[in-house]
Amino acid sequence: MHNPQPGNMYTDTTYTPLTAIMHPWMNRLIRDRALLCRLLETNGSPIHLHHAGPFAENVTLFEKVFEQHHITGAIYYARKANPCTLFVNTSQQLGIGIDTASYLELKQCLEMGCDSHKLVVTAAIKNEQLVRLALKHDVLMMLDNEDECKFVNEMAGRLGKVAEVGIRISGFQHNGEKIYSRFGFDTDRVASFIISKLGKGTTYEKLRYKGFHFHLHGYSTHQRSEALIRSIELADELLVKSIPTAFIDMGGGILINYLSSAVQWKMFWSELKKAIRGERTAITFNNDGLGYQMIHAQLHGNPDVYPFYNELPKELFLDEVLSYSDIKGTKVASMLKERGIELRIQPGRSLLDQSGCTFANVIHRKKDSRGDWLVGLQMNRSQLSSASADFLLDPIFICKSDQNAKKRPFTGFLTGGYCLETDILLKRKLLMPNGISAGDVVCFPNTAGYMMHFNESRSHLFEFARNLVIGEAEGKMIVQPDLIESDTTAWRRT
Ligand SMILES: *Cc1c(COP(=O)(O)O)cnc(C)c1O
Repeated sequence: MHNPQPGNMYTDTTYTPLTAIMHPWMNRLIRDRALLCRLLETNGSPIHLHHAGPFAENVTLFEKVFEQHHITGAIYYARKANPCTLFVNTSQQLGIGIDTASYLELKQCLEMGCDSHKLVVTAAIKNEQLVRLALKHDVLMMLDNEDECKFVNEMAGRLGKVAEVGIRISGFQHNGEKIYSRFGFDTDRVASFIISKLGKGTTYEKLRYKGFHFHLHGYSTHQRSEALIRSIELADELLVKSIPTAFIDMGGGILINYLSSAVQWKMFWSELKKAIRGERTAITFNNDGLGYQMIHAQLHGNPDVYPFYNELPKELFLDEVLSYSDIKGTKVASMLKERGIELRIQPGRSLLDQSGCTFANVIHRKKDSRGDWLVGLQMNRSQLSSASADFLLDPIFICKSDQNAKKRPFTGFLTGGYCLETDILLKRKLLMPNGISAGDVVCFPNTAGYMMHFNESRSHLFEFARNLVIGEAEGKMIVQPDLIESDTTAWRRT
């Protein structure tokens, strides 16, 4: 889908900035040009840099919400959002749990000495290797369907184990409709399933039901509150049959706010829509609508991107979920508290807020056949990629030498190393206030959650980007490879 290229008759070329929120450690780092150049020289380009400080701060923010609502809560870091061992170690040090979604994620956590009772397996596909390992170490598994129950029950029997399990549920009602999910047991049938088939003297006698788990697509607090209320109703139904529910795990999907200005965010969308209607110069590559498009001279669609600016991030999001009241006026938090049910959360992205950024070398500048400037970076789009149609944050441009600071502003697109017309790193046409030239460095802020690794590929035999950890000792910054680097072949290639 290509929207029409607006013609050259438009003079409105105002830039619409999207200024990223940046933690002090990132601000210190981008001022240390010598260090950055050395790191890129030693490790190649791009590099992903991580810092454990903000992760710990985010854990505290969530724990405070549990306290304020007087409920028992537990955090399980969803490792799939960033596999670096730094965050496994940090989770261990902070005493929080880890949500693992594959055999290697689990194996590594166990090898790193994680307490197996603080681990959980939510893998969408549970093969024999994974189930065997989880059973051997008594790791809680969230079961998704009856075939899984059957398989885990059989394996537990063979290994002489009894398996504690959570049951994943879905199909919650919202605004009179069922929310579709491919995951989990349907809420309408799950209580009778657990009562008749799980536990001693039933079909799956090696399984012990411990609690419910859900993870909703999207970022609605309202849907999460209602899903919690429905889960509590189900727990009550089970309790009548003397089956207690120890926990309800509401998964992840807790928002991050990446951007510093509501006004910029509003401006961006209004300018983008103007551009798509052909009322100003394009602000994205090929006038990409990021979900909007013109059909019969009408603008259609919805933004196909993460809500990079939002006013309900992290602890505010969790507080909103718990503060919601049912029709009788009882708060979700009170319902959990009355029953002594532990609330578990599995944040991935939101725990990683401000914990990482990506740096790449500028290799060349050139004009394309349309006359637009392109800035070629030594990286590819798989190294800055998630499900969102674009990463809507302004990068920071770090000039190689001070003289560049006097150069004229420059606008253009950032392009990558894949031999595809579409290897454009960010869809927006960017403003480089002090110009740009080969040898400069580009910083993409706040990339630790999903942006670095989730889609990274090795097409063209490009190396995976190195993962480095920044720490501070005696007031000085120290940089070390993440331990995952010592075993890269194992975690990426097997
Ligand atoms: C992806 C996922 C998470 C983490 O989601 P975030 O949006 O990163 O917080 C947690 N639990 C399950 C089951 C998931 O699939």
